[in-house]
Amino acid sequence: MAKRSGKRAARAAEKAAKKHPKLFAAVVVLLVIVLVAAACYYFFVYRPKHPDAPGDGDGVTVVGGDVAEITSADLSIHFVAPAVKASGDCTLIKVGDTEVLIDAGPSKANTSEIIDYLGDYCTDGVIEYVIATHSDEDHIAGFVGSKSGGVRNGIFYSTEYTIGTLIQFDRVVTETSLYGEYCDAVEYIQEKGAQVYTGLQCYNNEDGAQRTYYLDEAQTISMNILYNYFYDHSAGDNNNNYSVCMLLSQKIDDEKTNHYLFTGDLEGEGEEYLVEYNDLPQVELFKAGHHGSKTSSTRELMDAIRPKYIAVCCCAGYNQYNAAEENVFPTQAFIDRVAPYTDKVYVTIMWDEETNGYKPMNGDIVFYYGKSEEESEKTLKLWCSNNSTILKDTEWFKENRTWNGA
Ligand SMILES: [Zn+2]
Repeated sequence: MAKRSGKRAARAAEKAAKKHPKLFAAVVVLLVIVLVAAACYYFFVYRPKHPDAPGDGDGVTVVGGDVAEITSADLSIHFVAPAVKASGDCTLIKVGDTEVLIDAGPSKANTSEIIDYLGDYCTDGVIEYVIATHSDEDHIAGFVGSKSGGVRNGIFYSTEYTIGTLIQFDRVVTETSLYGEYCDAVEYIQEKGAQVYTGLQCYNNEDGAQRTYYLDEAQTISMNILYNYFYDHSAGDNNNNYSVCMLLSQKIDDEKTNHYLFTGDLEGEGEEYLVEYNDLPQVELFKAGHHGSKTSSTRELMDAIRPKYIAVCCCAGYNQYNAAEENVFPTQAFIDRVAPYTDKVYVTIMWDEETNGYKPMNGDIVFYYGKSEEESEKTLKLWCSNNSTILKDTEWFKENRTWNGA
């Protein structure tokens, strides 16, 4: 029946085409325009705003949840993928209506993507805490933003968000022009009422700063500023070692506490001191030190924290600094050192050789402690905007790196 009426419709269309060729062509053109417009709307407007919308292939694999589930989770940790071909950090932590933003991505020009991302999760207009780990461009550029018509578009200048407390690095190696712009931006938020402290002030509970900030009313989730030896000692010309380090702790019950570690771009020597001066527990999640560099995520630190999951904020395979192949993020040395502990390694973006641009690897990587409507128990879950393939199973890895782990 359906087949026959289909044939009939086709015959009628053929007839109409012969009888009114111009009208028929116009209808076809109109139909094509409508279809193209609908597709454009879906892919460029609807999908980017609804990353959990159903679709085909790997592009929308949702692992263990969706955006609504993440917003209602007790805790979520978001590694926001940069919208440029560059390695760089931007991490959002959300506990109820309290947000912590650690660094703001590598680009002055692409701050609107971060502000859009924040829009989905920070709905009360206040980012309670910001941590600026160190003064390198790939961490602070987004706070400053670019200037157009005398107005800057950086997160510190955003009219949509007020900053509560900024915790920043104690020292810089070089006072670059970006650093100067960053200082102006900090002054700007300070004038608007933000409290500004350094890592050392927090660690020492000095001048109103605190070592521990509770992010929820029940005081089960705490942000703990760790002691980095280089807060108050010279790191020579190594700016990365000035990174503010933070341990996020979430008490699940009397027996269990989940820990999550963020060390910015701290490198080997800094990690050694970090282990020596702080009582580091095993962590569920570690943000890979310095984008998966061979100089970070050392054996000393890995042995202390024995991470179960690792997120790497880098543009895999992109030789951004014209370095030797062995230094391209994420490095083989980094992979070899984390492999004894976990193969659950996730990476935000990767270099696209064909276009010399970038494309998502896992995309935005979100760890959250929550549950779906069907589940009875909350657990630590993962959601990635592109797919959830672990690093060692990706095509990129098989072509470029070797897995020497279990
Ligand atoms: Zn960096």
